[in-house]
Amino acid sequence: MLNPIRKFIELGTHNSLPDDINRRIRVVNMFSAVGMGLTFFLGIRALFAQDTQLACILLSASILFAISHKIQSTIGAKRGSFISAMVIIAYLMSLMIILVITGGNAGTGPLWIFTVPPVTMFFTGFRRGLFALTGFITIIIVLFAPDNALLATEYSYEFKTRLIYSFITISFLSAFYEYSRQRSYSTAMYLSEQFERQARYDPLTTILNRRGGQQQLEQELSRMQRNKKPFSITLADIDRFKSINDTFGHDAGDEVLKQVAGVFSSRLRAQDSLSRWGGEEFLFIFPETNEQEAKTVIEQIRENLSAEPIPLDGKSHRVTSSFGVCEISSSMTLTTALNLADQALYQAKNDGRNKVCTASLINSQK
Ligand code: GH3
Ligand code: MG
Ligand code: MG
Repeated sequence: MLNPIRKFIELGTHNSLPDDINRRIRVVNMFSAVGMGLTFFLGIRALFAQDTQLACILLSASILFAISHKIQSTIGAKRGSFISAMVIIAYLMSLMIILVITGGNAGTGPLWIFTVPPVTMFFTGFRRGLFALTGFITIIIVLFAPDNALLATEYSYEFKTRLIYSFITISFLSAFYEYSRQRSYSTAMYLSEQFERQARYDPLTTILNRRGGQQQLEQELSRMQRNKKPFSITLADIDRFKSINDTFGHDAGDEVLKQVAGVFSSRLRAQDSLSRWGGEEFLFIFPETNEQEAKTVIEQIRENLSAEPIPLDGKSHRVTSSFGVCEISSSMTLTTALNLADQALYQAKNDGRNKVCTASLINSQK
């Protein structure tokens, strides 16, 4: 029993859509379900009571709720949910105006207008909601003007004024609720973006951390599996970094790490990425780039670093790094590629440091 209801309410929602859109879709679905059931029930009751006019209004409302649900599931979820929300609100407001004019069942029709503020705010949000509610209450006030010929029922002056006052109160409460909800939602989104950032970025160098680099690698691997174009990675390790720490202190070592990250990132294209892979190790990712092309870029970066002395303790200090480049083809796993890049890096260290070595060179020497 619960499953079809859940299916009906979840229809059109998707993990890839923002939470706010999914929420609107659910609200439209829920409102369509309740609206459809309620107006159908009241419509049938009016039919038995031989109030054909009211029955027609209510039954057509029931059909409209069904249509709005259909619109949402046929037109793309985002636009569809907006259109069906507008259809529901326009119809709901028109229905309420008719109920106020005709008086509904024994003059109780106007009581239903209290459904308008929360529904309007739910569907349209704070700004549009306020605008729509102002329009709606203006129409009601005009209808309640003394001797309005449009009004088919008599309401007492006290009834009319109390109805307007309480409607305005409910409107403000709904607006306040929606405003707080939107604020909490934005704060939650902001915090989740901050946490997401903190989880992916290294606070010292401000580049991606190992986790961010790993995610980037996985993304690149799946892109390669789609477009079959190989990409290259490079592991870099600062030479004799321990002696920098030992000579100048840990803070100076940190400063060197920041400066090196700056030099490394300055020559990268927008699609390339750089992450801090470990203490003084960095990982470059070059999308759609073969080993030779990556080696050319890395050679320039290596030269730049060794040519730009870093000021430490009032003196300029030459910092160098060694690099291991590896091209990744579709037959290779990430672990294999990282191992090959590491072996190339080891070779560059063995060759005397401040060198670039490629995985293919090591393979050819085996
Ligand atoms: P090699 O040329 O063989 O790479 O020599 P190395 O001295 O760079 O190699 P080693 O791996 O022995 O030293 C790395 C040092 O990096 C050791 C560690 O204390 C230091 N280190 C790791 N992370 C940080 C950091 O965040 N800040 C600072 N200041 N030092 C760090
Ligand atoms: Mg190291
Ligand atoms: Mg090192």
